[in-house]
Amino acid sequence: APYQVVDVHELLGATLVMLKGKFPAGVRVVKEFDRSLPSIPAYAAELNQVWSNLIDNALGAMGGEGTLTVRTGRLDDQLFVEIADTGPGIPETIRARIFEPFFTTKPVGEGTGLGLDISYRIVVNKHHGDIRVTSVPGDTVFRVLLPISPAAL
Ligand code: ADP
Ligand code: MG
Repeated sequence: APYQVVDVHELLGATLVMLKGKFPAGVRVVKEFDRSLPSIPAYAAELNQVWSNLIDNALGAMGGEGTLTVRTGRLDDQLFVEIADTGPGIPETIRARIFEPFFTTKPVGEGTGLGLDISYRIVVNKHHGDIRVTSVPGDTVFRVLLPISPAAL
């Protein structure tokens, strides 16, 4: 599909509705949206896949109990979407490898190890953006940065 001009909040809303059935009762969802953000040219279906992958990982990390925060904001000429969880965090020893294809710490049959690889390619290669991660126990944040006026899509 060609790119569209999208409001990331609409995409995030659609993804959250789609995933509603997967949220355990013990997980609180907090939205911190900066509604002043402009719409941007983007591939909607692919970005929804990115949010789904990140939310799926966050839910997996929290194991039924915790807070999922979906946050948006602006940094200079980029906007960002953050998916944050209150799970145990990503050990320093594996931090450098989590975006590698087939890297997973999940039991066989539960994780493909492709979620972050695919997400990285969608964000970086297709949107000229970036994904950054910060993680301490109780606060893991995946930040997706997207150019507001990409030179080319
Ligand atoms: P999968 O979910 O199939 O394992 P991913 O590429 O989505 O593959 O993630 C790779 C690995 O990164 C996970 O197995 C896990 O070890 C780690 N990871 C990703 N997100 C989180 C998170 N929010 N908290 C803790 N670990 C994470
Ligand atoms: Mg995953």
